[in-house]
Amino acid sequence: MDSDLSNQPIQYSKGVGPKRARLFERVGIKTVEDALYYLPYRYEDRSNLKKICNIRTGYTETVKGRIVSSNVINPRSINFNIFELVIDDETGLLKGKWFNQSYMKKNFRIGQEVVLSGTVKKSAYWRDGLEIESPEYELFSDDEDSFIHTKRVVPIYRVTEGISPKQFRKIMFTIVSTRANEVSHLTPPEIINRNNLPELARSIKEIHFPEDNTQIDLLNRGISIYHKRLSFDEFLMFELGLAILKKKTQNDKGISFICAGNLQKALLKILPFELTSSQKKVVDDIKKDMCRSYPMQRLIQGDVGCGKTIVALFAILNAVECGYQAALMAPTEILAEQHYLNLYGLIEHLGLKASLLTKGYKNRQLDGIASGEINIILGTHALIQEGVIFKNLGLVVIDEQHKFGVMQRSLLRRKGLNPDVLVMTATPIPRSLALTFYGDLDCSIIDELPPGRKPVITKLFNSRKKKEIYNLLHQEIKMGKQAYVVYPIIEESEKVSLKSAIQGKDAFQKVFPELRVDLLHGRMSTDEREKIMASFKAKEIDILVSTTVIEVGVDVPEATIMLIIHAERFGLAQLHQLRGRVGRGADRSYCLLIAYEPYGEDAKRRLNVMLHSSDGFRIADEDLKIRGPGEFLGTRQAGMPYFRVANIVRDIEILETAKREAFYLIDKDHELKQYPSLRKSIDVFWKGKVEFYKTG
Ligand code: ADP
Ligand code: MG
Repeated sequence: MDSDLSNQPIQYSKGVGPKRARLFERVGIKTVEDALYYLPYRYEDRSNLKKICNIRTGYTETVKGRIVSSNVINPRSINFNIFELVIDDETGLLKGKWFNQSYMKKNFRIGQEVVLSGTVKKSAYWRDGLEIESPEYELFSDDEDSFIHTKRVVPIYRVTEGISPKQFRKIMFTIVSTRANEVSHLTPPEIINRNNLPELARSIKEIHFPEDNTQIDLLNRGISIYHKRLSFDEFLMFELGLAILKKKTQNDKGISFICAGNLQKALLKILPFELTSSQKKVVDDIKKDMCRSYPMQRLIQGDVGCGKTIVALFAILNAVECGYQAALMAPTEILAEQHYLNLYGLIEHLGLKASLLTKGYKNRQLDGIASGEINIILGTHALIQEGVIFKNLGLVVIDEQHKFGVMQRSLLRRKGLNPDVLVMTATPIPRSLALTFYGDLDCSIIDELPPGRKPVITKLFNSRKKKEIYNLLHQEIKMGKQAYVVYPIIEESEKVSLKSAIQGKDAFQKVFPELRVDLLHGRMSTDEREKIMASFKAKEIDILVSTTVIEVGVDVPEATIMLIIHAERFGLAQLHQLRGRVGRGADRSYCLLIAYEPYGEDAKRRLNVMLHSSDGFRIADEDLKIRGPGEFLGTRQAGMPYFRVANIVRDIEILETAKREAFYLIDKDHELKQYPSLRKSIDVFWKGKVEFYKTG
């Protein structure tokens, strides 16, 4: 973060030079600063290495010994050879084994001392012998550098081909010991003190070359107090950016929607149900936001089926009563249409005019929108096209936010005069992400379902249990229910051996010749898809075989079975979303998962979570843990910041503290006038990392 160190190419550091600089660049190190923040990914305690007689099978161990033999087995075969190294430390022998890497032999000479580390196994062909497959290794020498590489807790870095771990470590040692003191500590000292964090240069030194009495376990997990300091600094930069961004919108002049609330009252009278207390609370939150002079920016999270749409309508009525137009944007035509069908009756009843704007819109509609004759516009992306001009757009509602990029959010905003913005998502966002990715929004949560819903019964089957599933399907459909069957792919191919929707449809039709089976997938045109979905809603289809295109928000109360083929291939969020398609009526519903063996640990974990939880927030948290934040959001494309040290899942508490401190600081000093260099580094930190942030 120091502008000086970040301008100094690594090439000129001792022991580097132009050739090695290219190798450093391969691991992302271009400058001295990059190097200081290139942290070891693990540590080895070489201050007291274990003796071979004491190591245990199944554990990761590190030992040092003298090479007593070095052999390539099957040397003339390139398809299968093994390079074997045997070391002796006077308490026992240990073998290191590398498959098809006979060239390794030239790295070692008999008599040399070497450190091997890896998972210890019993050797199959060597009585009572122990071995490590593909161990990490390091030649050992008692030269003047030995205090860097041995007799201490040693940092292990990820290095690339062309530079040995030892060479790399030695260069890092030089850089850390000579340059760490130059990093500038931008975080205001009172914040550091208040949170009992160690000094920055010291933290960097300790992370790279820890003191003797260090707790290696904390280092290995990235949660030492020194790691915490670095993570804190990063989070603080990020949250300060968010805080400034938010402060700016609060200084924007928005619309104060102040009205008697007559339309809302009228709606309450004609609604066939009562709002849940969660819904009431969110309606209140929104009302308060809308009164304010700056634009509302609120996110509503709520599991599928919790009733977000009606809450949006309350907000819309608030805007309309104040004389403004309101728009609701959904990610697909099916959804936009569904909103229209659900809301249109209520809207007409209240004496207002609504219009559905999708890609086939008519000029007449545009006229109505431009003149203000139409109060409420429901639609798809079509809403943000250039030709669509609103008379006075005061409120923008964005449904299923996660399907839209952050940019689209702001495009629709720009159609109005600093309109209020309400975004809704059925993908529960783990707390850590709410604090980062959505940190500039206020959050409301609808955490209860309308009364009378029965929880969906979830069952896991292996692929041999088809009969049982067919019976259940038959039984439900006989009672007038409908089923979804979801496949991971559209069409079978030679590349992957998975069942597919197209073949699946035929298979189901064969099993159930008397039933109406149809097909829906992403390669069909939007029109075709709409038609199929509409006839499913109209109960003209019993079994709808499809891919994940049915994922979001579609509401068919009569559908009571969701059968997911190859459930082991789906992500948790997807599985949960799919399950949310059923259980929308008052009847008992099923989510049946068919998993094809063999599948890995992660798949097992995902399926287990599905069996034991229906709480979207728990599921999202688990999903985030299994996949990691990058995967979870699709990182860069989603505008997610990149953190060098910090990890939003592991370091959630630090993140929360940093957020608190950042917002507090910006509250006192909007422009960071007291900290000009901090202000500058925030811009540097955010640039290229978060797209939606604009400075100046
Ligand atoms: P989602 O939050 O997934 O968008 P919807 O808004 O589509 O959910 O609502 C799902 C269904 O629940 C709709 O048919 C809606 O009319 C109904 N609903 C919403 N709120 C209530 C309520 N308080 N009581 C009963 N039914 C409700
Ligand atoms: Mg919805």
